[in-house]
Amino acid sequence: MSQSSGVHVNNTCYCARMAIMKTSWTDLNLGRRFAICPKYKQIGGCKYYVWIDPPMCDRSRNIIPGLLRKINKYEDELKKCEDELKKCEDDLKKCEEQLIKKGSREKWLWIALTVAMFLVYMFV
Ligand SMILES: [Zn+2]
Repeated sequence: MSQSSGVHVNNTCYCARMAIMKTSWTDLNLGRRFAICPKYKQIGGCKYYVWIDPPMCDRSRNIIPGLLRKINKYEDELKKCEDELKKCEDDLKKCEEQLIKKGSREKWLWIALTVAMFLVYMFV
């Protein structure tokens, strides 16, 4: 494959087709664009394969794949947290409903107690 530094590649491949632009997603060339024969390594095609973007420096090559993995990991964790939060919200809602029910029960208990106290006061 060509490593020529010319940014303006001739986008017609060796078999006179319009080369298509693709983006590499391998760890070594993450996000690096290249032009390729639309029938690359296929019958009737050719082996036209030219990088459009300059090679990544060693530092990016070492850092970017790790960063992407981290992002994916954090996205997974975020998703888990959101699920858990949803569950907590549901639980909280249930608790609130129970608390309201309990509150009205307590109110009736207080009324009954007051009535009982009144009756005790009246007849003792
Ligand atoms: Zn071709």
